[in-house]
Amino acid sequence: MAVNGLNGVNGTRSKHDISTLKVNQSRLMDAIHGGCKYGAAHRYGDHPTETGMARLSLNDADKQIRDWFLATAKSLNCKTSIDQMGNLFAIRPGKNAAAPPIMMGSHLDTQPTGGRYDGILGVNAGLEVLKVLHENNVETEGSIGVVNWTNEEGARFPMMAVASGVWAEVVPLETAWNLAEVSPGEDGHKRTMKQELERIGYLGSQPASYRAMPMACHFELHIEQGPSLETERKRIGVVKGVQAFKWFEITVKGRDTHAGTTPFYARMDSMLCAAKLIVESNAIVKKFGGLATTGILNADPGSINTMAHTVTFTLDIRHVEDDKLSEIEKACREAFSRISEKESEKGCKIEWKELVDSPAVKFHPDCIAAVEASTKEVCQDLPMTSEDGQLWRYMISGAGHDSCYTNRRCPTSMIFTPTKDGISHNPQEYCSPEDCAIGAQVLLGAVLRYDKLRADRGDFS
Ligand SMILES: [Zn+2]
Repeated sequence: MAVNGLNGVNGTRSKHDISTLKVNQSRLMDAIHGGCKYGAAHRYGDHPTETGMARLSLNDADKQIRDWFLATAKSLNCKTSIDQMGNLFAIRPGKNAAAPPIMMGSHLDTQPTGGRYDGILGVNAGLEVLKVLHENNVETEGSIGVVNWTNEEGARFPMMAVASGVWAEVVPLETAWNLAEVSPGEDGHKRTMKQELERIGYLGSQPASYRAMPMACHFELHIEQGPSLETERKRIGVVKGVQAFKWFEITVKGRDTHAGTTPFYARMDSMLCAAKLIVESNAIVKKFGGLATTGILNADPGSINTMAHTVTFTLDIRHVEDDKLSEIEKACREAFSRISEKESEKGCKIEWKELVDSPAVKFHPDCIAAVEASTKEVCQDLPMTSEDGQLWRYMISGAGHDSCYTNRRCPTSMIFTPTKDGISHNPQEYCSPEDCAIGAQVLLGAVLRYDKLRADRGDFS
C-alpha cells in the first residue's frame, strides 16, 4: 500500500500507514441516517433519527437505497455490477486489479419493524472505508470492494441470506427466484423474488456465483444484536464463528376426552405432555451451556373443556459446538420418550420432524487475525471501561449472517459492535456513533492488513 504523503521510506508499507488512516465518524453517521430516509417507519421519539425502518427486500424503498448505493460507489470511481440475485458489488481497483477483491459485505434490507443498524452499519462502514482510501489516494495492492447482499433478513422472501446462499452455490438460483413473498400485495397476489427484481430494475445479468464474482475474502461489520459487549463494557467483538442450530417441529398425539369426567389416571393429555417437554428441553440445554426456544405452539381441537388430542410445537436448539448440539438433541429425544410414559401423559406419541440443520461455522484464522490486530490497535487509544482491562473479546455469533455463506467459498470473519440493551429487529435498535466509528475503523484496519498479507505471501506474483 502506498499512501500519498504518508508512505514510509521509499514507499514501503509500514504499520504507520495503516494507523494514519481514520474513518470520519460524522460522515459515516450522515450516510447511515441519510439513507434511512428510504424506508423510515415506526417513529418513537422527536429527533429526526428516532425512527425504525421497514425496508423490506426489493420494495420501492429498497430500490431507492440501491440507486443511492450505486451512485455513491460511482462517485468513488468504483466499478459496479449487479448479479442475477440483485446483489450489488462496488469495487475500487487496486494495483493488481485482475485478482479477486477483498470484499466488505452486509445488507440494506430490514425487518418490517427493523432498526437503523442491522446490516445498514456494515454496508455503510464498507463505503466509508472506500471513502477514506479515495480521499487519501491510497493505492491498495489488490482491489477492495463492498457488497450489498439481497434479502438477508428473509422477512419478505422467507429464506434467510438467500442471495449469498446462491452466490455460494448452496441455494439453487431457481429456488431463490421462485420464492414468493410472505404477505400478498394490495391486489392480493404474492410476487416472487424474480418478479420483484425485474420490477425495480435490479435483475442483473452477472451470474450469481462465486465463480463469476470471486472474492479474496469477506469481512462483515455488524451490531452484536445481543447484550454481551454492552454488559461487559467492551467496544468490539472479534467474531470467530457462528453457533450451530437445529429446528424441529414436534407433534404430541394424545386423546381428546372430557375435562370433567376423565380422572388423571385415564388421560392421554397431549398439552400437559408438551408443556413438560418444553420445560425439560430448557433444563437440558442449560446443562450443556446451549439455548432452547419454543416459539410456536398449537393445540387441537382447541376447546376449554376437552383435552387436546394433538399438540405441535417448534423447538430451536443451539450450541457453539456441533457435537454438543448432537448431545442436546439425543438427551431431548430420550427425555421426551420417558416423559410420555408417565402419569397423565402416559401413552402420548411423540413425532420429531427436523426442519433445519445448520452446523457451526468457523471463520478463517487469517481474517480473524487481521480483525484482532486491527482491534488491538484501535482499542489502545480508547478509555478503559471494562473490569478485566480488555476492551474487546472473542465472540461466537448467535445469529446467522451472509458471512456464513461466504465462509464456504472464501476466507471470512466478522466484527461486532455493542448494541444498546441487546435489542435488535426493533425500531429502537441502537449503536452509538462512537461505536459505529470504532467498528468501521477496525474494519478499515482489517482490510488493509489483509491486503498487505496478500502481497507479502505472493498472491499477486
Ligand atoms: Zn443483519
